[in-house]
Amino acid sequence: HAKKSLSKRYYLFDDKLFKNKMDLKLIEQEIKPSLISKHFQVFYQPKVNPCTEEIVGAEALVRWFHPDRGFISPALFIPIAEKTGDIITVGRWVFNEVCSMLAEQKQKGIESIPISINLSRVELYQSDLILFLKSVISRYQIDPCLIEVEITETTALNDVELINEKIKAIHELGMKVSMDDFGTGSSTFSNLKQVDIDILKIDRSFLCDIETNFKSKELVHGIIDLAKRIGVAVVCEGVEVQEQVKILKEMRCDLIQGYVYAKPMPRSEFEDKIQRDDFL
Ligand code: C2E
Ligand code: MG
Ligand code: MG
Ligand code: MG
Repeated sequence: HAKKSLSKRYYLFDDKLFKNKMDLKLIEQEIKPSLISKHFQVFYQPKVNPCTEEIVGAEALVRWFHPDRGFISPALFIPIAEKTGDIITVGRWVFNEVCSMLAEQKQKGIESIPISINLSRVELYQSDLILFLKSVISRYQIDPCLIEVEITETTALNDVELINEKIKAIHELGMKVSMDDFGTGSSTFSNLKQVDIDILKIDRSFLCDIETNFKSKELVHGIIDLAKRIGVAVVCEGVEVQEQVKILKEMRCDLIQGYVYAKPMPRSEFEDKIQRDDFL
């Protein structure tokens, strides 16, 4: 009897695995064509100063709206694109979209706010990354202060020397660098010591229960104080409720990015929002 149910379970598991594998293969094959067919979009999620409730920045987040399969999460397709190398095409497309938006804002006389862009480890390892960034900002005549590059903490651990070389070059272009998903890597303190970043983004997993979990709250408080001591700004990511905002304000967190203020939104909606002052 036990044997029978075991084999049944195995079959189900295998079937699911097979289906998932097909899905992944399809996703893998459809990234490039979808990019050409304009099924990708860049969404923007505001970063808010909790004291003034002003939008002072935003993160660019790629969105894939597949005509047959609907919305495909970046959490699903970015790792696949990293494996196939398509992330380079996707990442460059995103960077170009952001710069083109900033250039149009300048032309229309709209005051721009800094935009951060996620850079995958694969992109960071591209030997012509810096040349690429430089050529796009000079083509669009973008003020490099308006661009911030987000590097995930787990990337930073891999090869400190190379990462620091890239960060130095990015700084020389005039752009800022932030460490994304801070706290999720395995040698967080070593990273902070060795990697020269301007901004630290505390991972959502630390923030999601600060209003109920004493440990989470004190950890976040500690990270914020620590960052201030070493001259690094702090963004708290994934803040969903007002109670958390209240706590973070008391801790003197610099910026908040989360559903409590706004979800990632299309460019037009985002531009409307930054042109209006009445944010909340
Ligand atoms: P990330 O860079 O850490 O981006 C923040 C993620 O948290 C986004 O998920 C955002 O929608 C989500 N988020 C923000 N506030 C809240 C909140 O209050 N509650 C919850 N539950 N979630 C919140 P998203 O857009 O699904 O992106 C997932 C990840 O995919 C990103 O994490 C980033 O690592 C990657 N990604 C997205 N766009 C790009 C891109 O253009 N290039 C690269 N290389 N990676 C990207
Ligand atoms: Mg990010
Ligand atoms: Mg990330
Ligand atoms: Mg993050």
